[in-house]
Amino acid sequence: MTHSQTLSPEDLGALRERYRIERERRVRPDGSGQYLSADAEFGYYAEDPYAGERAERESLRDRVDVTVVGGGFGGILAGARLRQRGVGRIRVVEKGGGFGGTWYWNRYPGIHCDIESHVYLPMLDETGYVPEWKYAPGEEIRRHAVRIAEKFDLCADALFSTSVTSLTWDGTDETWIVTTDRGDTFRSRYVVTATGTLSELKLPGIPGIGTYRGHTFHTSRWDYAYTGGTPDGGLTGLADKRVGVVGTGATGIQVVPKLAEDAAYLYVFQRTPSTVDVRGNRRTTAADVGADHDGWARERRENFLRVTSGETVEEDLVADGWTASAGLLEKLLSSFRRQGDRAAFEAAYELNDAAKMNGIRARVEEVVADPGTAEKLKPWYRYMCKRPTFSDLYLQAFNRDNVTLVDTADTHGIERMTERGAVVGGTEYELDCLILATGFSVGVSGVSSGRLPVTGRDGVRLQEAWRAHGPRTLHGLTSNGFPNLIQLGGTQSAPSVNFTHVLDEHAVHAAALIAAAEERGAIVEPSREAEDDWIALCAEGAPDHAWFHAECTPGYYNAEGRGRPNGPTAYPHGAAAFHDLLRRWREESVGEVLRPRSTTAN
Ligand code: NDP
Repeated sequence: MTHSQTLSPEDLGALRERYRIERERRVRPDGSGQYLSADAEFGYYAEDPYAGERAERESLRDRVDVTVVGGGFGGILAGARLRQRGVGRIRVVEKGGGFGGTWYWNRYPGIHCDIESHVYLPMLDETGYVPEWKYAPGEEIRRHAVRIAEKFDLCADALFSTSVTSLTWDGTDETWIVTTDRGDTFRSRYVVTATGTLSELKLPGIPGIGTYRGHTFHTSRWDYAYTGGTPDGGLTGLADKRVGVVGTGATGIQVVPKLAEDAAYLYVFQRTPSTVDVRGNRRTTAADVGADHDGWARERRENFLRVTSGETVEEDLVADGWTASAGLLEKLLSSFRRQGDRAAFEAAYELNDAAKMNGIRARVEEVVADPGTAEKLKPWYRYMCKRPTFSDLYLQAFNRDNVTLVDTADTHGIERMTERGAVVGGTEYELDCLILATGFSVGVSGVSSGRLPVTGRDGVRLQEAWRAHGPRTLHGLTSNGFPNLIQLGGTQSAPSVNFTHVLDEHAVHAAALIAAAEERGAIVEPSREAEDDWIALCAEGAPDHAWFHAECTPGYYNAEGRGRPNGPTAYPHGAAAFHDLLRRWREESVGEVLRPRSTTAN
């Protein structure tokens, strides 16, 4: 934050104006048509390139104790935590051909975790695994997901390349009826959903995208048969190809350096530049991360969460870009929550933010040789308007002779596609291959979107009930009218940048609820009153982020410029406090959501 001393009120005023102009350039005049989904004529973009031939199998008609929808970290952790509680038949159902979720689908060259591996990879204490890099490559993370699944015996009963198509509560039998797209219809006493938040890929709504005749794919379905190589690089198939990449978010930042190394020529089509901070990836030893006693990983993860939640700790163990920035901003927020002085908070926030962003822009100038290119790579918005990125290779790639940055901000993205390539500012860029690093739809996966119909007691559809009255939960995890259904990672819980930590806390909670219900022969279901109290608690302390998002450049953090709803979508006091609350509640109040079963049949 060294640049803060040089900022006068005039500087801040000019910056505000610059941000406004840049934002206007990027808001689409028609307000729509930003993205296409990968179905119908574009369905091929979503096909699984990693699963191989889908083997025929018998449809199932049996009964299990718990069905876990989703085989990413959420589902795996739910399964593992249930096993630790002695639960017997657990069936994980997963759309992909194996475990890993995000890390199953995303195998693009250069993929790495952008959170420190030692806090991101869950169950390190339980598996005895110590990552070797501060920021692990994707394949190591995927293998760790499989390691947990194997250790906790989740593989034999798992159904891969299978999507759950409906969940229906049968009150007579007090079980869920689960159907899938492979013709299965089986019964399950409990259902845990862990369907992820960023799992439906999206395509850019570029006019004429269907007319392009070159090769094309999305980064979350990497076509190694075409490019050659592996996630480590060596993309020999691109040696004679003109490649275009659309998208400069967290994915684009990681993939561009690898493409630049191996493609004959690379065009990077940018609409909004990311903030690209120092990465500093390095090999680490067990001693570096204090992996010398039981519980070291749990302690480190907790430390990271507390720092990024703005709490004061003795030592910041991870000490990276996340803890420096997120911690600072969260500290300002928590002091605002304590003192309620909005004007002072906004002024301090703006000053810190401007200093941070000036540093980010200065780095672009230092690294990128061509001043014109450097200017286009500078982000003009507030930090955290978009997910921050970290790389020591991305900006450097623009110093290569075979890389051109094509700025598309004035035309709100690529103007149109032709059979041969992409048109921007009247120039046609001929491309052999167009790679889409255009991200994922937020909030369309999971049960609340309606893609997976859930019918609870008395035939009530969860999606319809929530559409009419807003989401209704206790702790974001259970809902009245939907007995024995636990939703991980959803609304009215507490988010954190380290999402696997959040998922693990939810998984521990889900397993404890199910174990308590099994022990007492009970059903898990909160009362309407418990939901009302929880929603009121979320609403009471909901910090008003609308002012911040309204001034941000468009992206999925602010619903593409439309602004995020400011309702009670989260527990207001942060993830660390939320986890403490869940722990206490399990000890003192779990009986409140348990009611006797009326059947003994299952
Ligand atoms: P994002 O949604 O963050 O980025 C999509 C990109 O596509 C943006 O740069 C967007 O531009 C651009 N774009 C979309 N349409 C057009 C168009 N018509 N013309 C030009 N550009 C266009 O997706 P990512 O896949 O990069 O990241 C998604 C999330 O996945 C991250 O935020 C992060 O949560 C996660 N992730 C995590 C990683 C990790 O290491 N943990 C690594 C990678 C991803 P614009 O900004 O102007 O809309």
